[in-house]
Amino acid sequence: MYAAGDTAAAYAEPGHQVLPSCRHAIPLGKLAGHNAAALLGLAPAAFAPKPYVTCLHLDGAGAVFATGWERAVRLTGPEAKARKHMITERWTCPPLDDAEEILRRGDHSRPLGEGERAA
Ligand SMILES: Cc1cc2nc3c(=O)[nH]c(=O)nc-3n(C[C@H](O)[C@H](O)[C@H](O)COP(=O)(O)OP(=O)(O)OC[C@H]3O[C@@H](n4cnc5c(N)ncnc54)[C@H](O)[C@@H]3O)c2cc1C
Repeated sequence: MYAAGDTAAAYAEPGHQVLPSCRHAIPLGKLAGHNAAALLGLAPAAFAPKPYVTCLHLDGAGAVFATGWERAVRLTGPEAKARKHMITERWTCPPLDDAEEILRRGDHSRPLGEGERAA
C-alpha cells in the first residue's frame, strides 16, 4: 500500500517530514503512481522531492516567497505575488483536456522546467 499527499508522513530530507502541502503532495502522488505501476515490472523509485520552499499571498497583507526549512525570504511584494500566481495557475495546474500533457507532467522523473525549479 502506498500513501501520498496529506495522508503521507515520508521524510523529505533527513530530519524533515513532508508537510500537508501541494509542494509535497504532488511529487508524492506522482511517485506513488509510478511505484504502483512498478508492481507490473518497472523499477521502483525513491522519494526525492525538490528543495522545500514556501510561497504565500495574503491579498492586502502582502506576499512572501522563502526557501529552505528556515524559510529564508527571497521575494516580497509584487514579485512574490507574481510567483504565487505562477505556482497556482501554471506550475501546479495540469490541463484538463490534453492527455499527453497530463501524462508528461505526471512523470515523476521528468526534468523540471526552469520556472518550476525556482518555484
Ligand atoms: C483552503 C486551502 C488552501 C491551501 N493552499 C495551499 C497552498 O497555497 N499551498 C500548498 O502547498 N498547499 C495548500 N493547501 C494544501 C493542499 O491543498 C493539500 O496539501 C493537497 O491538496 C493535498 O493533496 P491530497 O492529494 O493529499 O488531497 P486532496 O487534494 O484533498 O485530494 C483528495 C481527493 O480525494 C477525493 N476523495 C475524498 N474521499 C473520497 C472517496 N471516499 N472516494 C473518492 N474520492 C475521494 C477528494 O474529493 C479529493 O479530490 C491548501 C489547502 C486548503 C484546504
